[in-house]
Amino acid sequence: ETFPLKNAVTMAHALLLPYIPKAKVLVDMTCGNGHDTMFLAQHMNQSAQLYAFDIQSCAIEQTKKNMSGKDREYLHIIYGVGSHDQLVTQITEPLDVVVFNLGYLPAGDHAIYTQSATTINACKICLNKIAKNGIIMLAAYPGTPAGEEEQHALKKFLQHVPQKEYDVSYWQPLNQIHNPPILYIIQKRG
Ligand code: SAM
Repeated sequence: ETFPLKNAVTMAHALLLPYIPKAKVLVDMTCGNGHDTMFLAQHMNQSAQLYAFDIQSCAIEQTKKNMSGKDREYLHIIYGVGSHDQLVTQITEPLDVVVFNLGYLPAGDHAIYTQSATTINACKICLNKIAKNGIIMLAAYPGTPAGEEEQHALKKFLQHVPQKEYDVSYWQPLNQIHNPPILYIIQKRG
């Protein structure tokens, strides 16, 4: 399977694909309409555990709807309504794959969006819980003032993550107008 290397979401999927079948614990920190949850569920091992979190119950309902009625039964999904920095603390096993798709739900309430303080807090918790060779991906949206503030704070935070333990990088299209989404990529060293 290949993905066009055109935006932060397709890049995240392309980079994660080889890691997903080997992952034991996967987390979608902002499941929204469930596109990333579906992507992870479709490629993960049948025995792996997937968590899907969102602060809005309507997002969880939409994700559940997306996941039902498909040709494969997705049994190993635990849904959580609440802020991801709170919910992720309840996972006791090491995390192998963590996905954040920041900002607001495009077809939903634009007044509900991820905030830099909780995003960075959630990120810190994930850095502590991530397994060796585990990956955390964050798609950030600098196209709005709030999204730009969040992305800036996130970048500042990630610049100081110790390089002896983690490899941290980012990716962004160069020839697109309107501040295209940025992908932050973190891997815990093995
Ligand atoms: N990945 C989703 C998809 O494929 O449809 C899109 C995610 S959307 C860009 C961002 C989501 O983050 C929204 O659904 C919003 O409700 C959620 N959100 C905002 N703050 C949150 C928080 N503190 N904890 C968990 N989810 C949050």
